[in-house]
Amino acid sequence: MTRFVHLVGAGPGDPDLLTVKAVKAIGRADVVLVDDLVPDEVLAYARPDARVVHVGKRGGCKSTPQEFIVRLMIAEAKAGRIVVRLKGGDPMIFGRGGEESEALANAGIGFEVVNGITAGLAAATALGVPLTHRALCHGAILVTGHEREGDATDWAALAATGLPLVIYMGVARCEAIAQALLDAGVARTLPAAAISNASRPDERRLMTTVGRMAQEVRAAGISSPAILLVGEVAASRYVHHSTARSVHDGADEQTPIPGGGPVRAVHARPRRDSHRG
Ligand code: SAH
Repeated sequence: MTRFVHLVGAGPGDPDLLTVKAVKAIGRADVVLVDDLVPDEVLAYARPDARVVHVGKRGGCKSTPQEFIVRLMIAEAKAGRIVVRLKGGDPMIFGRGGEESEALANAGIGFEVVNGITAGLAAATALGVPLTHRALCHGAILVTGHEREGDATDWAALAATGLPLVIYMGVARCEAIAQALLDAGVARTLPAAAISNASRPDERRLMTTVGRMAQEVRAAGISSPAILLVGEVAASRYVHHSTARSVHDGADEQTPIPGGGPVRAVHARPRRDSHRG
């Protein structure tokens, strides 16, 4: 009897950013347990007879308790069904993939993890930011802005590394985060950015600074799901080749522009560089 669960990352939202491996796993599944933030288009790869269960907030109740999801996953696998647990981004980046894989191992159920493109990387790409540009930094920090009780993030220690901060789940607390960074001695002028719905049609981008971040995020109405990016590299942007434009269009180039300067504008797709926020 098959007892197998695939913990699959669905990427940041653009269904074209699914991996081939994810598509294959979804196509094999008898049961697909779907989180919020997983685009509906992805479910087109499921078999027509597959049972699709929405276990996120859209699933009916406010949010399906994690223990219930784990129990369901284990019960379905024990019944011999192939289960795909589909999560936004990457299952192991702020995705509870660690807890779920532990529960599966304890229940003696085989599993594999299929990477997805995590939102922080999609956000950098949406902004045209080369996240680890070697002229500017030697790494990057992925951190949550939504701390668990009693688990205070040491923003001063993070700031002291000088590495860019890719902050997940931070937009609701961006005032407190910006203040903590300023208290830690970060310059008000340090570039920052906020990107909501990266890679989706309703993607929005805001280039700002740590000093102005909170106020501008609120003024622009940027809301979850969003990534905050803090660091010099946030102002270093390359310009995308747009498939919608002719390659002869002089505005298109791919060359990175280190220190290109923050553009304080909110862009809704398609990009309108004249739209100042
Ligand atoms: N496992 C996911 C993260 C889940 S936590 C991953 O690897 O991406 C949920 C948070 O991810 C959101 O609060 C937001 O900070 C971020 N997020 C997810 N999708 C996003 C998107 N399309 N654009 C911007 N941020 C996103």
